[in-house]
Amino acid sequence: MHRLYGNDDITIFWDSDRCRHAKKCVTNCPEVFDITRKPWIKPENAATAKIWQTISLCPTGALSCVYNHDIKVVFEEENFRSAAYDGDVLIGECDYTVNDGNWAIVHTEVVSEHGGKGIAKRLVFTVVEEAEKRGTGVIPVCSYAAKILG
Ligand code: SF4
Repeated sequence: MHRLYGNDDITIFWDSDRCRHAKKCVTNCPEVFDITRKPWIKPENAATAKIWQTISLCPTGALSCVYNHDIKVVFEEENFRSAAYDGDVLIGECDYTVNDGNWAIVHTEVVSEHGGKGIAKRLVFTVVEEAEKRGTGVIPVCSYAAKILG
């Protein structure tokens, strides 16, 4: 399972397949990370610096995060994509096609001036999260998505 959480500052990625429940997150910052609650991550409950430090303790890579850099990422089902916007300007997208009921991620791209900000990962996770919420399988055709989901 892939899920996104966040506040105005950061986006948090959680990959349940990598989570080994070492509970470093729960121990270090229980106000944000609480596996008895839904959603189990509540970023609004602590300062960003504390959350960032806690995520750095995760021993498995199940948790990771990036700064948002004021870039908004949204899911646009009507366009078969997730999209990243700097204000009103489209600066990245992750496109999928529907194949036998699965979503095949065929293209992920962010304009070069916004590279290195983790936007592509936000785009891929957004598509995967939406697919998983619908019980739909994901086929990572594009090499970047395959790397992220590998
Ligand atoms: S620290 Fe990482 S591996 Fe451990 S419970 Fe938290 S997310 Fe899972």
